[in-house]
Amino acid sequence: VVDCLILGAGPAGLTAALYLRRFRRSVLVADAGQSRATLIPRSHNFPGFPGGVRGPELLARLRAQLTTVGPVAWGGRVLRLAPGEESLWHTVFKNGAARSRSILFATGVTDRRPPIPNAEMAIKTGLLRFCPICDGFEAMRDRIAVIGMDDHAAREAIFLRAYSPNISLLTLGANHNISPDACRSLEAADVRLIAVHPDSLEVAGNLLLARRTDGAALPPFQTVYGALGVDPQSILAKGIGVVVDGGGCIVVDAHQRTALPCVYAAGDVVRGLHQISVAIGEAAIAATAIHNMLPPVRDAC
Ligand SMILES: Cc1cc2nc3c(=O)[nH]c(=O)nc-3n(C[C@H](O)[C@H](O)[C@H](O)COP(=O)(O)OP(=O)(O)OC[C@H]3O[C@@H](n4cnc5c(N)ncnc54)[C@H](O)[C@@H]3O)c2cc1C
Repeated sequence: VVDCLILGAGPAGLTAALYLRRFRRSVLVADAGQSRATLIPRSHNFPGFPGGVRGPELLARLRAQLTTVGPVAWGGRVLRLAPGEESLWHTVFKNGAARSRSILFATGVTDRRPPIPNAEMAIKTGLLRFCPICDGFEAMRDRIAVIGMDDHAAREAIFLRAYSPNISLLTLGANHNISPDACRSLEAADVRLIAVHPDSLEVAGNLLLARRTDGAALPPFQTVYGALGVDPQSILAKGIGVVVDGGGCIVVDAHQRTALPCVYAAGDVVRGLHQISVAIGEAAIAATAIHNMLPPVRDAC
């Protein structure tokens, strides 16, 4: 039996584990190994790293820090969760099982990728991005494409006007869901709205090529933002009765508590700014709330 089962070893899960171990709580961190942070070529907006930090390096540092606070149990992807006797949660994960007094969901989201061949490589080179708040600054004065189909994508394109006069919102085909109001805002912001053929997207070196639905080639783009939405990894949470919002994000209160007793959530899987610093902050709040909720720890000697 552990004090807390943490689902996910991204920035949120690893930070929560660090805090809980420092509160002298036992933790089991179960992870499916697909943190969004592994995809970050170099983050320049995470405080404390003037030269930026690569996502995998940040995760490695968080894991290294965790080794300084005593043992942590590790597991693979969580497959099943169920309430059991004595108010304990029963968990089955890849290669094991455990019982815990509390649960923290730090399972993140996955980005819906645009149909760009070899998108993974385009993310690694920084051509394809997902977060203008994170790295719009690094795209200063680039020729930027935002690929999306709705008002959220329109807002993202308009946000990027702070960095470049050259923004196009590319819809995949002509059947988009961008409202007339949002279309007017795009026009007012000098953002071009262009329907492209979904099969025409192609990477050439460090550039993205695309063709309009009428076949005409567009001048190459230097930076591309995918704005097709995200899928919060909240299926297990929903399965045990945790409340999620319309977009699938877990609903929590100011202490990161879900509607279920002893069940918490932090990071991207919770609605809000999908940022490392936010994930880490929420994890610190959640870990402290979990510690305060559990029976007190007393030193034995
Ligand atoms: C290309 C890119 C660039 C980015 N750049 C920046 C940046 O510069 N600055 C910034 O602040 N943010 C950036 N972000 C966002 C940042 O990566 C996320 O905000 C951050 O990783 C969220 O941390 P998290 O711990 O909530 O989720 P994640 O890091 O996504 O971790 C969630 C973990 O939970 C695991 N998991 C899911 N389901 C289960 C399950 N059933 N059982 C066990 N484990 C499970 C996943 O496999 C994953 O390992 C970027 C994201 C991308 C994609």
